[in-house]
Amino acid sequence: MTITANYLSVTLRTLAACAVGVAMSIPFLVSAEVTSPVLAINEDAATAKITVQALRGNVSVLMGSGGNIGVLSEPEGKLLVDAGIAVSKPRLKAALDGISPLPPKFLINTHWHWDHTDGNEWVHGEGATIIAHENVLKRLMDRTRVIEWGYTFPPVAPGAMPTVTYTKQKTIKFADETVVLTNHGSGHSDGDTIVYFKKADVLQLGDIFWNGHYPFIDYGAGGSIDGMIRLANVGLKQGTENTIIIPGHGPVGDRTQLREYRDMLVAIRRNISTLKKQGKSLAEIVAQKPTAKFDAKYGDYVIDPAFFILLVYTGV
Ligand SMILES: [Zn+2]
Repeated sequence: MTITANYLSVTLRTLAACAVGVAMSIPFLVSAEVTSPVLAINEDAATAKITVQALRGNVSVLMGSGGNIGVLSEPEGKLLVDAGIAVSKPRLKAALDGISPLPPKFLINTHWHWDHTDGNEWVHGEGATIIAHENVLKRLMDRTRVIEWGYTFPPVAPGAMPTVTYTKQKTIKFADETVVLTNHGSGHSDGDTIVYFKKADVLQLGDIFWNGHYPFIDYGAGGSIDGMIRLANVGLKQGTENTIIIPGHGPVGDRTQLREYRDMLVAIRRNISTLKKQGKSLAEIVAQKPTAKFDAKYGDYVIDPAFFILLVYTGV
């Protein structure tokens, strides 16, 4: 199937309304269709074309299977950052083979979400050691429900679990590239890793950064709007003015786009916080369109304005 923005937004709005128990007070958020976006995204990934974009040095990005996948290709093999959706395996494998015939040696997960980790098992099967923040392993080992997606994730298979974890920082020397992994506390979730390819000067932020889209925020796993803003600021301090930035979703960007995105988060947080402090309900705040200025640019993807307002409202 083809996922349309409309399909997902209706679905997400329904789930969002249910999630906070406000469905009755926001009739326009209620729809009869309650299908998890997880299923829809998986179905889409089963046929979606994978695109390969060379960035700088030996770093490329693969797009089309859930979150963006960073690829460092060296004479020793490959290092992947995130693994996309499992059903994309044949197309991801073909795309990876197109970069080089060498197998993946390392796979780093930027966070626990399935659209970044669902491919863990097969990538591990090709020979990759999986590395992640320690909280990613905890979440992948457990049954985890994401209320806003209407979906419960079972524990992942043993072969899909990270076997190397870290807490604050970890450096991997791979051929003549240095890959620095850092966790700066919770933002999108409680296990966010920022990956910096030092020599290539490429930064991969996972779902801290959705370039041109309102982001999801995983409150159930320790995420928050304030954490998102804080980590966007951390990302702006990494690298150089010329750093190429791979977002979790959306096209590859740079500091200018990350700055605009950070400013958007700050402005919407301020607007919603002000209205909430005035005693306004979520329905009243949605009706006042506190995101209006940004909707044309950021509101046309899986997280639509009403859903993003809910996410911010929850955290202020
Ligand atoms: Zn995510």
